[in-house]
Amino acid sequence: MQRHRIEQGVKDGYVTLTGMIAQGRGEAFDYLIEEKTTEPALRAEQAAVELLLQDSHMRGLPGGQPDPQAEPAVRVLSVNGNVAALCAEDIVKLADSLKAKIEVNLFYWTKEREEKIAEILKKAGAKEVYGTGEKVQVPGLDSARGRVDPEGIAKADVVLVMLEDGDRTEALKNWGKKVIAIDLNPFSRTAQMADITIVDNVVRAIPNMIKFVEEGCSVKDFDNKKNLQESISEIKKSLS
Ligand code: ATP
Repeated sequence: MQRHRIEQGVKDGYVTLTGMIAQGRGEAFDYLIEEKTTEPALRAEQAAVELLLQDSHMRGLPGGQPDPQAEPAVRVLSVNGNVAALCAEDIVKLADSLKAKIEVNLFYWTKEREEKIAEILKKAGAKEVYGTGEKVQVPGLDSARGRVDPEGIAKADVVLVMLEDGDRTEALKNWGKKVIAIDLNPFSRTAQMADITIVDNVVRAIPNMIKFVEEGCSVKDFDNKKNLQESISEIKKSLS
């Protein structure tokens, strides 16, 4: 089913051939966790929702001092071709429940792909889709792959990236963004670099996160490095 959606996305001209390779790599890692959400993934999904719901004035200030002048947090869900093909409706639901922005953000950018993906998201119910107009450059990234919406990712406190490239994740972190990554490969640079790493398939992770926003959740003392090690242990377990 997922594979066919990606295949259709290629035929429709908004998923790249590299997107098919990413899908194949994802399937291999998903197989290793028996295509199920593991305990550490579930914990990371809860921690991600907690971070996404935090106000910016509660986060990252020296001594944990709240800043009453601070603007509310800007949360952005970054969407590429594979994500649009696999779970556009759920992305829109999650964005609505979090009051987050949705931005089309492509590694292999073309105007045509960008517009097609924005269209899919709008058909799925998105009222506004960022990333299709004027752009600014992410510091440290070259040309098209590093251009983002000045009102979207450029302003974000927290960015949720899925099936993302390591260089871009690193550049977002260096730009001061909190990065949450959904990536089935716990060894990828993105997985290793994110503030919160969800080692799960987007088609399971996003619905789980919607449920946690609706029902509430709380996770104590979340440590991403430790949690990521536990995700790797789940793979080892399945191999033994
Ligand atoms: P990095 O640069 O971070 O090391 P990479 O070069 O492997 O990563 P991509 O080729 O863009 O980056 O790969 C996208 C990642 O997304 C891969 O790690 C793959 O396992 C993962 N992936 C593919 N499909 C899914 C999916 N449905 N859900 C979650 N992750 C997925």
